[in-house]
Amino acid sequence: MVGIECARVRVHINADHRDLEDGCMRLILLGPPGAGKGTQARFICERFGIPQISTGDMLRAAVAAGTELGKQAKAVMDAGGLVSDDIIIGLVKERITQPDCATGFLFDGFPRTLAQAEAMREAGVSIDAVVEIAVPDDDIVMRLSGRRSHPGSGRVYHVTFNPPKVEGVDDVTGEPLVHRDDDREDTIRNRLATYHAQTEVLTEFYGDLEAKGTADAPKLIKVDGTQSIDGVRDEALSELERIAVSC
Ligand code: ADP
Ligand code: ADP
Repeated sequence: MVGIECARVRVHINADHRDLEDGCMRLILLGPPGAGKGTQARFICERFGIPQISTGDMLRAAVAAGTELGKQAKAVMDAGGLVSDDIIIGLVKERITQPDCATGFLFDGFPRTLAQAEAMREAGVSIDAVVEIAVPDDDIVMRLSGRRSHPGSGRVYHVTFNPPKVEGVDDVTGEPLVHRDDDREDTIRNRLATYHAQTEVLTEFYGDLEAKGTADAPKLIKVDGTQSIDGVRDEALSELERIAVSC
């Protein structure tokens, strides 16, 4: 009864995008490239009134602006590798000091290595939940080769699974969509290999923290990412609402 009442209060607070008074809802979205992290990030951020922190979007903005960081990152991104931990950790640490992160945030595409995950724990950044979206490699190539992105906002579409209202243009701005340079089949295969070699281990890392009852261990939530976009959204949101009530 108390829990239900509490949930209702939180829904109200979040729908108004006002403070989550205890700062709850620091989240990580894990999963291979193309799992649907960016797609689901939109729903989760809107629901809880928290900003999406996508290291991929931050890097692409630096590439587009032609900064020194962008120049360094572009070759690595095009090859399907990972930008260095030091650069990424620095970017994220700086980003989470901004005022919009005071009441929570959602990391999308970060951390991607053990070093990045450990750096956050060492910096005392506690995470409430890690949502892992599981999708087999076979589905990934189809998802990424059909992905179309709006560079200005990070909104993503799929030519078949989630098409824009008008082919080739963003629903909100009417600007043209792009097929990202790294969403070509050979780079997709490299990115998947990078994921299995360096990022997949994070599921075990967070699972172990939780299993050992480590202080500040986030709750690990696994979601079946092969469902429809709405199915994934409903499953993830219902699990996260339970966390919001208990924290
Ligand atoms: P990520 O951020 O994990 O790389 P995206 O959210 O960009 O993944 O999704 C990759 C592609 O797959 C996009 O074209 C998106 O529209 C599509 N997509 C996302 N979720 C699903 C789903 N559940 N079913 C089918 N296609 C999906
Ligand atoms: P996706 O979710 O489709 O794999 P992202 O947009 O998250 O793509 O990332 C695109 C590229 O940016 C990655 O392939 C990688 O080169 C670089 N990148 C993004 N986030 C990180 C990170 N946390 N650590 C290292 N490199 C990153």
